[in-house]
Amino acid sequence: MTRADAPASSRVRAVDDDAPTSSATPTHRRRSKPATIEPDRSSARAPDGWEKTLETIKRWRAEGPPAAVDTMGCEKIASLDGDPVGDDGKYRRYLTLTSAMLSSQTRDEINHAAMMRLRARGCTPERVAAMEEDALDALLNPVGFHRRKAGYLRETAKILLEEYDGDIPRSVEGLCALPGVGPKMAYLVMNVGWKTPTGICVDVHVHRISERLGWVPESVLGKNGSPKKKTPEDTRAALESWLPREEWIEINPLLVGFGQLTCTPLRPKCAECPLAADGSCPSAFKESTGNPKSPKPTKKRVKVEVEE
Ligand code: SF4
Repeated sequence: MTRADAPASSRVRAVDDDAPTSSATPTHRRRSKPATIEPDRSSARAPDGWEKTLETIKRWRAEGPPAAVDTMGCEKIASLDGDPVGDDGKYRRYLTLTSAMLSSQTRDEINHAAMMRLRARGCTPERVAAMEEDALDALLNPVGFHRRKAGYLRETAKILLEEYDGDIPRSVEGLCALPGVGPKMAYLVMNVGWKTPTGICVDVHVHRISERLGWVPESVLGKNGSPKKKTPEDTRAALESWLPREEWIEINPLLVGFGQLTCTPLRPKCAECPLAADGSCPSAFKESTGNPKSPKPTKKRVKVEVEE
């Protein structure tokens, strides 16, 4: 049995549970454990009207034009090739992991183009581990932090070959122990690569839109009991506490596309949004113009969204 056969776990508690045992590539074991949060279902209360809101977004997305995520999202690259004979999905899983690792702070179009260049050179752990870092970096450019990610990809490829028989870890813990992989990527890879709904992948779009829709608590408390700035992990825990599990995989591409087309980070297009029209969005016109009855949005500093 390889390490990839280990049972999946839905919660990150002790990342070291699945830490590699070899001493050959120790760098990733020195990573600090990602802070993940357990959903509190005991006091969970689903927000009023969430089913109608979700149905409206689904209909809006189905009837509207495709978003970048629909054709170039990091899970799409794995569907371009068939499985090599006897591979049992290993190649597709590696493509999904690689694309997820490149995706942070990078637009879908840029990520997809880099993945196509990498795929043309042979995107397998064997090929990536054997590549010179400079050559790999040149292939990835202009992906965000491409130099650092080139190092992560090579290091990860070596770990996968040495410890997972060229496959990828089958748990959030194992994935998070890889260099450059955080919870957001790990949940995406579990959901898409292993087709196991393990947790909601919360990126900047899901984080922002959940907040605008009032799907997450207005404030959360830090370890010292005082209110703290909400993180994507807080949003994941809040959503998982009430959103039915059968929605966990679809909610990411659904909201990402909605965020790319309509509920954009800056100046959301509330004037054309169905959730403004039916009065179900508590944030309608607070950050955008378009409603003649609404006051002009006050000038404020532009908030830059940063992903893990
Ligand atoms: S009404 Fe505006 S803020 Fe609310 S979901 Fe639609 S675009 Fe986003």
